[in-house]
Amino acid sequence: MLPAETQRIIDQFGIKYVLAQFVDIHGSAKTKSVPVSGLKMVAEEGAGFAGFAICGMGMQPHGPDFMARGDLGTLIPVPWQPGYGRVVCVGHVGGKPWPYDSRHVLQQQVQRLADKGWTLNTGLEPEFSLFRRDEAGKLQLVDASDNLDKPCYDYKGLSRSRLFLERLTEALQPVGFDIYQIDHEDANGQFEINYTYSDALESADRFTFFRMAAGEIANDLGMICSFMPKPDPKRAGNGMHFHLSLASSTNKNLFHDPADSSGMGLSKLAYHFAAGLLAHGPALCAFAAPTVNSYKRLVVGRSLSGATWAPAFVTYGANNRSAMVRIPYGRLEFRLPDAGCNPYLVTAAIIAAGLDGIDRQLEPGEMCNENLYTLSLEEIAARGIKTLPQSLKEAADALEADPLFREVLGAEIVDEFITLKRMEWVEYSRHVSDWEIQRYTEFF
Ligand code: GLU
Ligand code: MG
Repeated sequence: MLPAETQRIIDQFGIKYVLAQFVDIHGSAKTKSVPVSGLKMVAEEGAGFAGFAICGMGMQPHGPDFMARGDLGTLIPVPWQPGYGRVVCVGHVGGKPWPYDSRHVLQQQVQRLADKGWTLNTGLEPEFSLFRRDEAGKLQLVDASDNLDKPCYDYKGLSRSRLFLERLTEALQPVGFDIYQIDHEDANGQFEINYTYSDALESADRFTFFRMAAGEIANDLGMICSFMPKPDPKRAGNGMHFHLSLASSTNKNLFHDPADSSGMGLSKLAYHFAAGLLAHGPALCAFAAPTVNSYKRLVVGRSLSGATWAPAFVTYGANNRSAMVRIPYGRLEFRLPDAGCNPYLVTAAIIAAGLDGIDRQLEPGEMCNENLYTLSLEEIAARGIKTLPQSLKEAADALEADPLFREVLGAEIVDEFITLKRMEWVEYSRHVSDWEIQRYTEFF
């Protein structure tokens, strides 16, 4: 028999099939559809997958099965797919959690915090772009009239995409997303939906569900919802900022101290955590900005609307949106991640870096409250501020050179990640772009 609460959810929402869902190393959702009669087996043994068919699982065609074992506590209905539920799984091999499964890697980091009586709360801010394909298969904005130079917060832009935005909002609200704001962002066709924070594992599960919902609802409307980090080279990219705070066992925000002399309401613990993020910034970049395209978002320079809003430098500041870490007040905002990241891997890496800052009592140095988009590279260097990696290759090099993540997250997943990212970089480097054709065909 299934637990009473599981059965209640099944009955209440008329669930006939459950998606046994996990993510690959890129954070993409992978599923099997399981008739409700098979759910007990998924919870106890797992749904079986050929591990070699899943990106980054470190498995071979002649190896044992990857068993995606469902956590029944995560069962929710899939509102845009009536009759379906979704249960989040962790891969098991030979009866044990698999070290290449990023959700398992995050669970272990969450446990390190729990051992100290702490919970990391994260508030994720997904940004995305709406497209459609024209008859030639080319991507076009869904709303052709969304063409302002400074489109952020524009009423018309928001209004004309409201059908999609409402459907997405109303699909997420019944499954625990407390959505409080929806806006048009600073690129044409770009939006953001904000919902209340939750503990780090639940936030990662939710973000995965968010991308599943957005992708399918857009598809139903003949649109494409893209989480690609930088679809338009001249406009802001799709970030996925992480708001961070540590809570005590009595749910007190340990990052908040009203007596902070900087006026930012941060505790010593928060400063050490921020210092850990800065100390490991270049290596964190590989997880937070994990695609070739990510580095077109993290550029040194400006966009057409005046700013990219994405960080290019390893620094922190008060309400400074040009810095890698911003301090809204009494918590941290880590602005490096983009919407194409694996949320489990990024969160696990944030905990690893933050705890290292706390363990070694690192100090973040002086706050930078200047607009970094307007300073020259010389001025930035003179302030002792380092530039973030400017390509996936540089980020992979930085991750390889930083022993912390291999040691703390496990050599298996980190080595696999670096290998795949190096392959991605080589594949990209070997491709001949339109830019090259235009520049060189008749250049000589
Ligand atoms: N789109 C920006 C980014 O790529 C962020 C804009 C904002 O601060 O909301 O990070
Ligand atoms: Mg935003």
